[in-house]
Parts: sequence; C-alpha cells; structure tokens
Amino acid sequence: MPHNCVIIGSGPAGYTAAIYAARANMNPILYTGHEPGGQLMITTDVENFPGYPEGVMGPQMMEDLRKQAERFETKVISDMITKVDFSGPVHKLWTESGEIVEAHSVIISTGASAKWLGMESEQKFMNKGVSACAVCDGFFFRGQEVAVVGGGDSAAEEASYLAKLCPTVHLLVRRDELRASKIMQERVIKTENIKIHWNTETREILGDDEGVQSVKVFNNKTNAESEIPVKGFFVAIGHTPNTAIFNEWLDMDNTGYLMVKAGTTHTNVEGVFASGDAQDNVYRQAITAAGTGCMAALDAERYLTEKGII
Ligand code: NDP
Repeated sequence: MPHNCVIIGSGPAGYTAAIYAARANMNPILYTGHEPGGQLMITTDVENFPGYPEGVMGPQMMEDLRKQAERFETKVISDMITKVDFSGPVHKLWTESGEIVEAHSVIISTGASAKWLGMESEQKFMNKGVSACAVCDGFFFRGQEVAVVGGGDSAAEEASYLAKLCPTVHLLVRRDELRASKIMQERVIKTENIKIHWNTETREILGDDEGVQSVKVFNNKTNAESEIPVKGFFVAIGHTPNTAIFNEWLDMDNTGYLMVKAGTTHTNVEGVFASGDAQDNVYRQAITAAGTGCMAALDAERYLTEKGII
C-alpha cells in the first residue's frame, strides 16, 4: 500500500509538515536525510523564532520539533532518499538502504547546503583548518587567528561566534559593504576583535602537514596581494538547495530552487509539494521554513481529500 504522505527532510519545514500531517490523520513517514535536524543543528542561539523570549539553541529546537512530530505518531526514519520517480499517480522514492517507498503525496523539505569557494587548496585543507561551521569547529581554534569569508548573515554570525574564542577574526568581504542584516552588521562592526577586510578576495589557502597556516588574499580594487596568518578558514558564502534528485521531474529556477505555484506549495507535479529552503531563496529563515512546512501539509491534505484517498 502506498503511504499517504512521505516527507523528505528533517529541518523546521519537514517537522512542521509532519506535525500538521500527523494531526490530520495522514500517518506521515519522514526521512531525515544525512543531517538530521538540518542547518539549525549547526547554529547556536536562535533569537528570532517567536515563542522563545530568551532564545533557544538550534539543536534543542530541532530535538523539540522532532519530539512534537513523534508525539502525533509521525514515523521518523533515519535514511536518505536518493532517487524519485514522479511519473505516475503514485510516486516512487528510493532510499539509500535499498528500499522502494510508494506515496500518494510527497512533501519536499530537503533544505540547502553550504557553498564552497571551489579552490583546490580549500579541498586540500578541508577539516585541517577549512570549515563551513564555526559552531562545529571553532573550538579547535581557541586562542588562534582565524578568517571568515562572506558578507551575509551567516558570515556575520560565524565571525561573532569565533570572536568569543579567537584573538582576531579576519572577515574577508569581497565588496565594500556587508549584505548582512543591519543588526548583525552593527554587531560585527562593534566587535573589536573582528577585523573587516573590504574588497578582499581569497587567492589561496596556504599550509603544511599540520594544516592551514595562512591565507593569501588580494584587494580587488588595488590588486595588492597580502598574506594573513590564520589557523582556521571558515567559508560562509551562502547555500545551494538540495534538489538535485528532483532535476528530472520538477521545475526549478536557474540556481536549483524548486518553483511552486504562487502562494501555495504545489510544484508542477500533482501530489508533490515543496517547502522550506529548497524552494525559498529569499527569506530562508527557520520560521518561514516552518510556515511553508505547515502550508505543504495542508496542501497535501486537501489533495488527498480531493482524490478520496483520506
Ligand atoms: P547570503 O547569500 O545572504 O550571503 C552570502 C555572502 O557571501 C554575500 O556577502 C556574498 O557577497 C558572499 N559571497 C558569495 N560568494 C562568494 C565568493 N565566491 N567569495 C567571497 N564572498 C562570496 O548567504 P547567507 O548564508 O549569509 O544568508 C542566507 C540567508 O539566511 C539570508 O536570508 C540570511 O538573512 C539568513 N540567515 C539568517 C541568520 C539569522 O537570522 N540569525 C543567520 C544566517 C543566515 P556579495 O554580498 O558580494 O554577493
């Protein structure tokens, strides 16, 4: 028997979809993917999610969301969906562990992953000083100089976090302004041990057997090159949506974000709904992801009801 509703992904969108779907008696099955909890697992304080006046730690919030989804008997499965076939009225999904799962409705909440600069030296020193997660790896660089690349909220957050552990955080910004929100900009600018290098791009990460030792940068206005001694190099330049497995089936924009019918979570395939960062390159917040997760469950419920499935 096909499942009524399969949810792919375990961030705020996926778990919120699960809570709503389970409470509507849709018996949802949720596949967590390789990074259960999604991006919030690598975030510290979440201060802007309504309902937490003192803020909440990202991993704690995801644990709570999971428990809430399970309380209404969502089946949470630790597996990865690696392939889909959306050609028939019943959708087919393949798990990494070799199962084929059938579903009347599918909610995609696969989120987005960190982008890399794409340099050879970045690969070479991956996990030997190069990281995309200050919360995960910052501790290893206590008392040492580090660099953060990027000018958005992620970079501002990473730099602020590292500034509590490291004597100097070199923030490498490729333009002469930050893209981060005003409040985060102020926080970064006010933090004395964050040194902002404007118009600065990375040429190469240099190091030895012990890991990263410095970063070679250049000023894109003057072309002047310089070398900054750092032990840690954190990349925080945005994200790519995790939508590659849907290429063949679903409409996407030119950066891979899923397209939905305006004001809904309907994709171009009947019974397939998209929520969270996989379909949102504008807001990308936990609260907006959760909101679209709720919408996807309601859209799926209406779809199943119209088809007489539930
Ligand atoms: P953004 O896309 O907002 O910012 C990416 C930054 O990286 C930009 O400053 C961009 O520069 C820079 N960049 C991109 N490519 C390169 C490159 N090759 N070399 C150097 N710099 C590069 O991504 P974020 O991950 O920062 O934020 C994504 C979304 O998530 C945003 O909506 C943000 O508000 C939200 N967010 C919210 C947080 C919070 O509220 N606590 C925390 C983290 C993220 P340029 O500006 O020149 O394009």
